[in-house]
Amino acid sequence: MTTGLPSTAPLLLRNARILDPESGTYTEGDLLAVDGRVVERGTHLRAPRHAETRDMRGSYVLPGLIDAHVHVTAITADLASIATTSPLYVAAHTIKIMGGMLDRGFTTVRDLGGADYGIAAAQAEGTVRGPWLAFGGRALSQTGGHGDYRGPGTHLRDDHPCCGDDSRIADGVDAVRAAARDELRKGSHHLKVMASGGVASPTDRIDSTQYSMPELRAAVEEAEACNRYVAAHAYHARAVNRALETGVRSIEHGNLIDDRSVQLLLEHDAFLVPTLVTYWALANEGPGFGLPEDSHRKVNDVLDAGLAALERAHRGGVTLVYGSDLLGGMHRHQNEEFRIRARIQPPIDVIRAATTNAARLLGQEGSIGTLTVGARADAIVLDTDPLQNLAALADPALHMPLVIQAGAITHDRHPTT
Ligand code: ZN
Ligand code: ZN
Repeated sequence: MTTGLPSTAPLLLRNARILDPESGTYTEGDLLAVDGRVVERGTHLRAPRHAETRDMRGSYVLPGLIDAHVHVTAITADLASIATTSPLYVAAHTIKIMGGMLDRGFTTVRDLGGADYGIAAAQAEGTVRGPWLAFGGRALSQTGGHGDYRGPGTHLRDDHPCCGDDSRIADGVDAVRAAARDELRKGSHHLKVMASGGVASPTDRIDSTQYSMPELRAAVEEAEACNRYVAAHAYHARAVNRALETGVRSIEHGNLIDDRSVQLLLEHDAFLVPTLVTYWALANEGPGFGLPEDSHRKVNDVLDAGLAALERAHRGGVTLVYGSDLLGGMHRHQNEEFRIRARIQPPIDVIRAATTNAARLLGQEGSIGTLTVGARADAIVLDTDPLQNLAALADPALHMPLVIQAGAITHDRHPTT
C-alpha cells in the first residue's frame, strides 16, 4: 500500500461533529483533507483553492470503518469450488464484493485468506474501487484441517490439489516454515493458520485442535522475523489457548473460549476477532448460497456460544476487534455485526472494535481508525448519533449518506447537482 489513490481536490468538511473513538467524545468543527490525509482540524478553517466544501451541520463524522476478518475472494459459500473456477471470474466478483464493502463504510479490511498482492495493489493504485486491503495470502492448514476441502471419499493422485485459493496444505515444521516464507515473500501483512476445526471444512470437527505446537511456533517465528504476526482460526478453548501460548497475535472466531483464554489474551496483549454475523447469516441463508448440508449442521454448534464468548471477553477486558467473515451473497450483512454486538457491549466499545482496536491489530495505529491530523482521510458520515443508537451503523443504506476514502467522496447517497 504505497502509491495511494489518484490525487483529488482538497476536501473541507464544515461544522461536523467528529468522533474521537479513543475518548468517546465529539469535537465540533471543520476538517481539511489534502492529498489523502487529514491536514487540519479546527473552526472556521480557510478553504484552499479548488477545495470541495461540504456543510456537515447535523451530521456525525466517524473514522472510516475497519473490518478485520473478511474474505474478498469468497464469491460463494462453497469455498472448494473457487479453486476450480476461472481466476478472472473470481476476480470480477471480488471487485464487486470490495465495492460493496466500501459502500457500507469499510474503508480498510483485513483479508484472512484469498486476497493477494495483486488485488491489494490494484486497489491501492486506484484501479479497483474498494477498501484498503491488509492481506495474508493463503492460510496454512494441516492435512485434514480447516483449509483441506477434500471430502472423506475424495481420492486424488496429485500431491496438493486439494485447497481452494484461500488456503494451502503444509505438514511438519519444515513445510510450515517454507509455506510461511513463501506467503511472506509474496508481501503478506500477516500469516493465517488454521489452529482448529471449522464450519466450512468437510472432514474436521469444531473441537479438534490443528497443528502441533512446534508447527505453530515455526509460523510465529517466521512471521516475527519479518515483523509480521500470525492470526489463528480457532474455536475451542483448547485450540485457542495453545495458539496463544505459541505467540499467535489474533484469535479469529473464538466462540468457545474459557477464562484461561481471557487470561492468555490479556497476558500476550493479543486480540480477539469474533465473527458472529457469519453464523447468523449461515443459519438463515447458508444453504441457499451453496453451503453444503454438513457444514450447515455445524453452524448451530457455534452460534449461541459466540455471544457468551463475546460477553466473557468483554467483561475480562480483552481487546475486541470487528470481524464479519461473510461468504458469497451474504456479504451484504456485513454491518449486522454492529447490531449483534450491541446486545453485549456499549456502542463506543463496538465502534472502537471497528476503528482504534482494529488499527492497532493491523499495526496502523494513528493512521487509520482515527481522524486526528496526519491520519488517512477515511471517514463515514451518519445522520444519527451512533453512541445513542448503534443500529445506525447496521443500516448504512438508511443512515450513512457519505463515505470518504483518502480525502475523496467515494460514495454519496444524496449527490449535490
Ligand atoms: Zn475461520
Ligand atoms: Zn474466515
